[in-house]
Amino acid sequence: MHRGLSKPRKKPRKEPTCLPEKQPLAGPWAIICAGKSSNEIRTCDAHGCGQYTAQRNQKLHQGVDVLCSDGSTVYAPFTGKIMGQEKPYKNKNAINNGVRISGRGFCIKMFYIKPIKYKGSIKKGEKLGTLLPLQKVYPGIQSHIHIENCDLSDPTVYL
Ligand SMILES: [Zn+2]
Repeated sequence: MHRGLSKPRKKPRKEPTCLPEKQPLAGPWAIICAGKSSNEIRTCDAHGCGQYTAQRNQKLHQGVDVLCSDGSTVYAPFTGKIMGQEKPYKNKNAINNGVRISGRGFCIKMFYIKPIKYKGSIKKGEKLGTLLPLQKVYPGIQSHIHIENCDLSDPTVYL
């Protein structure tokens, strides 16, 4: 039996170090919109809400909307490869552009951006493009980047 040194006995303190930190918006991804200090999710406006699975007419929102002003620089959330162009709409409008990016175990589509390129490597936090004019198409909307996982799972935890 081990007897302690001559210190008074104390109950071991419970250290809360095993608890996960409550930082849902501090995931492995970089800050996506220039000038922001976090990846903030669009709340609700006249055009809908920004969370994953929010109601969209007859279906559910398959991604998450990250707040960003029209014309802002948009950064790559992780290091990977731009796989090609991805468009959110079938019809033509001013915001119908985006890319698919794959890397580090992630595969996402990002909509409403004019990318600097449609192919090739990109590093986490590197300029990926510019946010398109959402206010022209959806006046009063909280302008944002739409990000969805290629497998349509919830991307919120990575923000
Ligand atoms: Zn969206």
